[in-house]
Amino acid sequence: MSAASSTTQQGWDQATFSCGRCGANRTATKEADYLQAVGAHRDAHAVWDRLNPIERDGLASILRVLLADVGFGREFLALMDSQPQPTTRPNPTTPEGATP
Ligand SMILES: [Zn+2]
Repeated sequence: MSAASSTTQQGWDQATFSCGRCGANRTATKEADYLQAVGAHRDAHAVWDRLNPIERDGLASILRVLLADVGFGREFLALMDSQPQPTTRPNPTTPEGATP
């Protein structure tokens, strides 16, 4: 039995992540939660950067609906997966049939 102090285990009380880009602050009391929060925030920035304002707006309204009722999102996806997908029509602009 070694009574060595394990500062790595005890060092976590809480930590706050401060985003240099948007100024958001996220506080976590566990390292795993902290890493999760930081990762999620970075991912959000990555997606944000890829979308144009209209797409951001669309995604935000979808997320608002989903986060307001997570059960709805789950059910919608279940519905989606249980429905036989209508075979997507081939691209109407295919050269086939376009030639007289
Ligand atoms: Zn940020």
